Formats: sequence, C-alpha cells, structure tokens
Amino acid sequence: MKKFSKIPPSKKSLGQNFLSDKNVLERMVSFVPENLTDLAIEIGTGTGALTKILSSRFERVVTIEKDDRLVAWLHENDVLPDNCRLIHHDVLKVSFSSITQAEGKQEAVVVGNLPYNVSSQIVFKLFDEHRTVPAACLLFQKEVAERITASKSKKSLGVLSLVAQLFYNVRIVMDLSPGLFRPRPKVTSSLVLFERKEKGAGVQDAKVFLRVIKAAFAQRRKKILNTMAGNLRMDKKLLGEILKEAGIDPSCRAEDLELRHFVALTNRMCRYFL
Ligand code: SAM
Repeated sequence: MKKFSKIPPSKKSLGQNFLSDKNVLERMVSFVPENLTDLAIEIGTGTGALTKILSSRFERVVTIEKDDRLVAWLHENDVLPDNCRLIHHDVLKVSFSSITQAEGKQEAVVVGNLPYNVSSQIVFKLFDEHRTVPAACLLFQKEVAERITASKSKKSLGVLSLVAQLFYNVRIVMDLSPGLFRPRPKVTSSLVLFERKEKGAGVQDAKVFLRVIKAAFAQRRKKILNTMAGNLRMDKKLLGEILKEAGIDPSCRAEDLELRHFVALTNRMCRYFL
C-alpha cells in the first residue's frame, strides 16, 4: 500500500472536517444525478477522499482547494488519479463556467463537503452560475440545509431559501452525524441535492428578484408593505397596488409567502427597476 507523508493539522478557519468512510462517501456520490455531464467540479479537495470516489464515476474531475499546505501534500504524495485536475484557489474567486470552458464542456455538476464558512456564498454562486450547473450535491450544516430547503410558513424561510429555489428543486437527501468527520464538528450535517428546474424560473430579471427578496425580508416581522416601502424608498400607495396585482396581501409578512409570489412581484417590479 502507498505510504503518505503526514497530513497537515486541520485548520478550523478553513472548515476542515474531513470525511474518510468510503461507504458514506460512495453514498453521497450516489445522489449525484447521472447522464447530465461527464465533468464534476469538487469544492474543497481536502485529502482527496471524495475526489477519488468522484473520479471513478466521472470522466473528468476538477477539484478546487485553497489551503497551500494541503495542495502541497496532495502533490507530494501524488494522491489524485490521472483524470483529476487540482486548482489551487479560493472557490469564490473561480468561475465554474471558466472551468467548463477550459475542459471543453458546456456544463458540470458541483459536489462538495463544504467548508462551512463559505456555504451561503456557494448558494449565491449556484444562483449566478445556474446555466453551467445542472445539478449540485453539497453538504451543509443541518441548520443551513433547513434554511436552503425551507418552504412557506417556515421560520427558516428567507433570502437563502429563495435564492436556492429560484432555479433549483432542492431537498435534503441524507443526514451525517458529527462522528463521521475528523475532527468531529459540533453539529449534524445534511446533504442537499440541487436539481435545476427544467422550465426555468419564470423571472424576467434575476437581479431584480434579489433586490425584491432582500427588501421583503429586511425586517421579517413587519408587514411586507412597510418593510419594502422603507427599504426600496417607494411610495406606499403604488407599492400596495403592485403587491395586490401580484396576488399579495400588503398586510402579510414575507415569510407567509411562497416563491411564486416573489416571482410574480419581481416581474411587476421590473417596470420600475430596469
Ligand atoms: N472533500 C474533503 C472531505 O470530504 O474530506 C474536505 C472537506 S473539508 C469540510 C473542506 C475543504 O475545503 C478543506 O480542505 C478546506 O481547506 C477547503 N476550503 C476552505 N475554504 C475554501 C475556499 N474558499 N476555496 C476552496 N477550498 C476551500
């Protein structure tokens, strides 16, 4: 068996909680839909455990790792199989579309045991890059996964849920207990599967959608009319009419609404914001 040099001590600031149980990793990868593309992008290579499983399922794997010490360790020990390319960078500074282009592909699935410090930003990144990513399978802290998948009238429904759900159907497919990770985190993790909606999102402009939902949830306990009027500096009478046109009761709260209401509202607000 190949002998590796000592793995650098884990860094909490980079969310380094490694998974090594092959059965768990294989189960995680089994949720990634097949036949969409033969390219997978992994966020956070770590010691390459998940990368190796991905490399047996996909023709090509591009894996992104920020930690200089781990990148050096992966190279020194020649850990990664030949069909993997390691990018030494911050995932938030790399575009998925530039990776697919460099690989001569149109699309890639995105997989990762995410560093928790960037998990919300990755959901926003999927929103921005949904045209390149038909599906993603990502591990989050359970509480974040519940916010991502929350629907109407749930306390956890908010900007993150709507950003995740505009372009994707999302669901929790598996929970992982802290004991499966090294070092052991304090909380349970949940694997979320993102599957891009075939029919698209129905919004005229994604930037206006973001503006609308951020304004609606700025003070979630207040009536939507008051919160949005203050936040967007809009005339209350006009906004009240627009809300009603979108099928929204101006005296309700943002958390009482569903995604479809925000889509209808966005399309009516485009007149004023574009
Ligand atoms: N995939 C490995 C596994 O399952 O064991 C490692 C997962 S560990 C939770 C997260 C990994 O992401 C770490 O290796 C960490 O160094 C890396 N990481 C943290 N922040 C990053 C960033 N902004 N860009 C790329 N990688 C990052």
